[in-house]
Amino acid sequence: MTVTLGEAAHPIPYYVLGETTNEQWRAMLAASASPYAQLESGRVFLTVTRKTALKHVGASQDELLKTYDALSEAEDAIGGVGNNAAGAVPSSPLRQQIVEYRANGSANAGDHRVAWPTNWSSEALLTAKGLNTSWGMWHEMGHQRQMAKWSWDAMQELTVNIYALAADRRLPGTQNEHATPEEWQNALAYLSLPYTQRDWDDAGGDEMQGSEYHFGRFTMLEQLRLLFGDAFYHRLHAVSRPTTPQAAGSNAARKRLFMVQASKAAGRDLTGYFTAWGLRPDSGTRQGIAALKLPKAPTDWSRIAVYSQGQQLANAATGQCLTAGAPRGAVTLAPCRTTATQQWSLTAASGGTQQLVNSASRQCLAVPNASARPGTGLLQMPCGRGADRQWRLGTTSDGQSHHELLSNPVDLINAVVPSEPCFGSLGQERSNPVSQSGVRLLPGE
Ligand SMILES: [Zn+2]
Repeated sequence: MTVTLGEAAHPIPYYVLGETTNEQWRAMLAASASPYAQLESGRVFLTVTRKTALKHVGASQDELLKTYDALSEAEDAIGGVGNNAAGAVPSSPLRQQIVEYRANGSANAGDHRVAWPTNWSSEALLTAKGLNTSWGMWHEMGHQRQMAKWSWDAMQELTVNIYALAADRRLPGTQNEHATPEEWQNALAYLSLPYTQRDWDDAGGDEMQGSEYHFGRFTMLEQLRLLFGDAFYHRLHAVSRPTTPQAAGSNAARKRLFMVQASKAAGRDLTGYFTAWGLRPDSGTRQGIAALKLPKAPTDWSRIAVYSQGQQLANAATGQCLTAGAPRGAVTLAPCRTTATQQWSLTAASGGTQQLVNSASRQCLAVPNASARPGTGLLQMPCGRGADRQWRLGTTSDGQSHHELLSNPVDLINAVVPSEPCFGSLGQERSNPVSQSGVRLLPGE
């Protein structure tokens, strides 16, 4: 077959990662009469106007394309695509196309294509520096990967951010407009509403309007990752891929699929947890989860801090805070203050357990020699994989919304509660504090 190009045809500036140099790119752009230019990496095609390409001709095209590749790989990986996770599938050999969209409007995304409007940041489109902090581009590229089968209407613009956040963790930029402590505070405000007012699907609800509510709700999806690790999303995608077609019908059906498959992926009955978040599981969902016969997740897991540098852990009886001494030293209870020695981060460890990492020492709360002897004092030790450094969060026997920390195999009863809005008063010292009492293991009930 012979194809004859007419006189109107002319070459387009074309940059290939690893082959073209910046000098050649400049020369092609200078010589071209085409209004468009194209760049290509292993994972993306970029089609932009020549004008925008010229604007950013001084930035490194290699760095840009490598950043797109890293972002694309990170977004694939969280969904169990192209990595070694159980049930993973290979990445698509098709490159995602990113197109500069010659209109003023909003970015949008469809199969394998992102359209980025001319009135949005061209730095995000065409410089590594801009792309490193562009939540918008991470989000749009995430639409390629989200699973419609469990993204019911109220979730459609939220599950997409699972991938955006994976890009955030991979890329070196530290600033973007989302994943902020304020969004978690909005979530806490929502979680503090009476149960009857917590309605996940009511994005326009009176209690929390607009984007605060939107991103406040999104924290649940990140909280699930903190609780169960990246493996939670690897498994959720893996167990969902073989079930039901991509377009899985009604909102109720998609919502049910999400809650049942998430329970399966977590290895926990999440009925109470999702109820606390206002997802209101219907009877079909409850039956579907019950049929899995999994141990129940405490509803209080909905309170585990997201996007937080750390939190105070205050004892319910004394109101005092868990306090780290010198590295490898004892952990004590002391009057609560705003110091890093009293800030602890919960980091997901294996099997739904947590590590408690102190913000001052970066060491973990540990049981010396994994002793199960009641009365054993607790220490902080370098974080490792041992069960002596892993903890479970449970519900206290008083039935109130306080945590207890349960270590294997001894329970630390009623010892600590996470910081919640109602603990603000604990920031003040008690007039007659129980001084420096050590934190000890007590037998479970
Ligand atoms: Zn979107």
